[in-house]
Amino acid sequence: MIKLHARLEQRFDAEPFIARVARGRADCLPDRDREVLFVDPGEALVPGYRACLVAGGPDEHRQPVNPKIWQVPESLHYLADGDIVRISPRSGELWVMYRRESAFNSMLLTEQCNSYCIMCSQPPKAGDDSHLIRAYLDAIPLMSQDTCELGITGGEPTLLGEGLLEVIRSCKEHLPKTSLHMLSNGRMFNYLTLCREIAAIDHPDLMVGIPLYSDLPHRHDFVVQAEGAFDQTIRGIMNLARCGISVEIRMVLHRETVDRLPQFARFIARNLPFVDHVALMGLEMMGFVRMNLGSLWIDPVDYQAPLLHAVVHLEQHGLNVSIYNHPLCVLDRRLWPVAKKSISDWKNEYLEECHGCVVQDRCGGFFASSSLRRSDHIRRLTSEVLSTECQVVPTQSFTL
Ligand code: SF4
Repeated sequence: MIKLHARLEQRFDAEPFIARVARGRADCLPDRDREVLFVDPGEALVPGYRACLVAGGPDEHRQPVNPKIWQVPESLHYLADGDIVRISPRSGELWVMYRRESAFNSMLLTEQCNSYCIMCSQPPKAGDDSHLIRAYLDAIPLMSQDTCELGITGGEPTLLGEGLLEVIRSCKEHLPKTSLHMLSNGRMFNYLTLCREIAAIDHPDLMVGIPLYSDLPHRHDFVVQAEGAFDQTIRGIMNLARCGISVEIRMVLHRETVDRLPQFARFIARNLPFVDHVALMGLEMMGFVRMNLGSLWIDPVDYQAPLLHAVVHLEQHGLNVSIYNHPLCVLDRRLWPVAKKSISDWKNEYLEECHGCVVQDRCGGFFASSSLRRSDHIRRLTSEVLSTECQVVPTQSFTL
């Protein structure tokens, strides 16, 4: 697991600031005041940078070059040129906001939410967290224009109103080639005005990922713990599509959702055939999942038949489907073509059993939090197993 937060020993009386890491180069004069120089032991400091991060100790001879020198703990020695950090000098906190080489950068814009999902991995927090928006508005212009994709997440980002629009506008201006993928519960898109305001920004590549947990309104409302949420979400999805904004439907698979997977697939194929992507996702053992594990956990092997049925049904109706957050060894082999390596690199792990597994390079592996509960069917796959077994479960038909 890659650490994104650390405490620094040295403290200074100064305001928090956002800066880009300069490492292995000292030639970007115009930007030095927006950068922190990262030096390895024995490497010389260069004047003009906002501050300096050193992998070794902050030796006294270096102090005259830059008065603000922080010794960086080993867990952050991976920091690379172009990464972006937020440093709070008074509390000595360092937060890695963006890693240039990662394909999994996302912006958590708020921790507030209007739902209270039983398996929320990032439980909502009340209180003013507007500093997050300001931090990202400072960080976006420093990000690499070669960033392939950037996520927007929360909490519920649509609660930010104008703040969210500002972030999308800034992304369009500074990162015109970067795809933007926003996670939202979709309820605020019930208001057509919000959809129109986002559409008016005319971002070239924006998709909104919206969770839908059942074809039955009361089942969805139970999962998100909000009465009327199903109707708002469905209207929201339709409003977004009406405004020309791409929509992805996300379904988290657990004991409260898997039994109606075939009916869910039929509902989407019939009523929402225009969506751009359907993602069927494994549980992340964080937040409320830890509290509700007993009622949510189901071994993925036990829902392979309805999952296969749902994927086949959606694909037969022309929908683009993916399975996220599942190790390959628990998936029916016929589902492997749609299984994606979806877990963010900083929290993605493999187990002892994975060493020597012939499909590890294409397997999504595990969340670092998955040690809480794992399938009983994790097993190293060998070429021999692959050539002899063609599937994990037999085909099963469902009455809809
Ligand atoms: S053993 Fe590990 S790498 Fe192999 S399929 Fe299972 S989870 Fe993936």
